[in-house]
Amino acid sequence: MDVTVAEIRRLVEAGTTHVEELKRLTGCGMGPCQGFPCWDLLAAALSAVTGRTADSFGHPSYRAPRGALTVGQAAGLAELVQPEKACSTVAAQQHPATKIRTQKAAVAIIGGGIQGLMLAFCLAERGVRDIRVFDAGYWQGGASGRNGTLVRPAFSSPEWTGLFSHSQRLWRGLSRRLGHNVMYSQRGYVTMGESDRTAAICDQVVRVSRECGVPIRALGREELAERLPTLDHNRAKAAVMFEEGGVVPHHAAMKGLRAACQSRGVDLSYQSRVTGIDRQGDRAAGLWLGDVRIAADCIVIAAGAHSPSVATLAGVELEGYPWRIEACALEPTRPVFDPAVAMLGRTLYMHQTSRGEIVGGCEVAGDSSGLTVTSDLPVLAHYARHLVETMPCLADLRILRQWAGHIHASEDFGPLLGLHPDCRDLWISAGWSYGIAGAPAGGDLLAKAIVSGEIDSRIAPFAVDRKRRGKLIAEGAIVVSH
Ligand SMILES: Cc1cc2nc3c(=O)[nH]c(=O)nc-3n(C[C@H](O)[C@H](O)[C@H](O)COP(=O)(O)OP(=O)(O)OC[C@H]3O[C@@H](n4cnc5c(N)ncnc54)[C@H](O)[C@@H]3O)c2cc1C
Repeated sequence: MDVTVAEIRRLVEAGTTHVEELKRLTGCGMGPCQGFPCWDLLAAALSAVTGRTADSFGHPSYRAPRGALTVGQAAGLAELVQPEKACSTVAAQQHPATKIRTQKAAVAIIGGGIQGLMLAFCLAERGVRDIRVFDAGYWQGGASGRNGTLVRPAFSSPEWTGLFSHSQRLWRGLSRRLGHNVMYSQRGYVTMGESDRTAAICDQVVRVSRECGVPIRALGREELAERLPTLDHNRAKAAVMFEEGGVVPHHAAMKGLRAACQSRGVDLSYQSRVTGIDRQGDRAAGLWLGDVRIAADCIVIAAGAHSPSVATLAGVELEGYPWRIEACALEPTRPVFDPAVAMLGRTLYMHQTSRGEIVGGCEVAGDSSGLTVTSDLPVLAHYARHLVETMPCLADLRILRQWAGHIHASEDFGPLLGLHPDCRDLWISAGWSYGIAGAPAGGDLLAKAIVSGEIDSRIAPFAVDRKRRGKLIAEGAIVVSH
């Protein structure tokens, strides 16, 4: 990947000096070099441009594997290594102010991932002013900068299909609305089942998609072999194709959203952790960032995996827990398959990026509740074994990098969208396991609800208190639930 000093200089002059953000904006250190020596060169360039010492910038996280392990070699380790047993929770923080400074916002959004930014953009589009977004970390540091980028319109339940088909339609027109190319690539999305159980889920997906007017096709073996030539297609009992599904590279989507928010006057603050939420009686009235209080007419929690702990700052409960998921990129190769793929029984998903890397991941049984972003050898080995079993010709490709991110897993893995039932003016956009696919609909329909008070029928089933009311949604066609 060719990154020039001029490119770094331009970004620094535009205000970006965080090395993780520079990595995401330029791809610096994401090639076969694994950051050696690119990140030293990056620090030297930063030092030359800013006059600060090279050491003061640090470097992005080094990722295993350091050497050129192939998929086949990693698959051989699957029997030898076990998933990590990790467990940690985030303690709610309360910092009573000592010297109070007060600012104001009409809407204050906690979390600047794709949900927070999309909502801010949709609110601004509807004419809301004084929107402020606060994020504890760096831009794209949450799941929105660490995902598989797959977008699909339909599932096995009408509720999920209603929401996500709306979202997929919005993805198609989003570049025009933002004025920035989000690089949405409608290359198709195949969902596949290898057992009677997962084949029955595929049949159900076809039925529900047709009822909801979503274009879908059941693929026979021959067609499957044509669309996915690398796949051992004899394994498939059933496969369905969403021609309109595809992928959206998160770096492009997040860049477009950030720029569109800024040009509409949304105030975005990264490295700004919300440490408290003020209650006035039964309503949420403001935020605390250390000793700064932001009075707000309305507060939105869009804090991804941290949403339950952020909710405790307002003294309310949000069901669910953080769930760690890992993904992996293989070295670039010639185009070997076009559509995105999800294999239900294996909880496996993948696609080939426009620069030729095969990016994907799978879920591995074990305790995935840790909030670390380090990646694990057992997960890598199990993912590699799935690849070798289903696409044997990938076995000789080298593994470029592996990473981890966190989602907020709700009881039924569906999003939690709407007003919190126990606190007025506290809105929630959380519980997203498919938060890239669902972001345009989440932002659109929540903005409509906040501005007009009207809860659209496509988000009503995903109400925050559905677990309490015994209204969980049974959805079998998601790859996290198997
Ligand atoms: C490996 C992996 C693969 C995935 N693949 C896909 C896929 O293919 N398709 C798909 O649709 N989805 C996928 N997902 C899920 C998707 O990435 C998430 O659902 C989505 O990014 C959630 O967006 P978000 O804005 O809600 O959360 P995040 O992007 O996590 O943003 C939440 C933000 O809140 C901030 N925050 C937390 N606490 C505070 C605080 N106290 N104050 C201020 N800010 C705070 C965090 O810093 C963070 O930036 C994947 C996820 C992972 C990890």
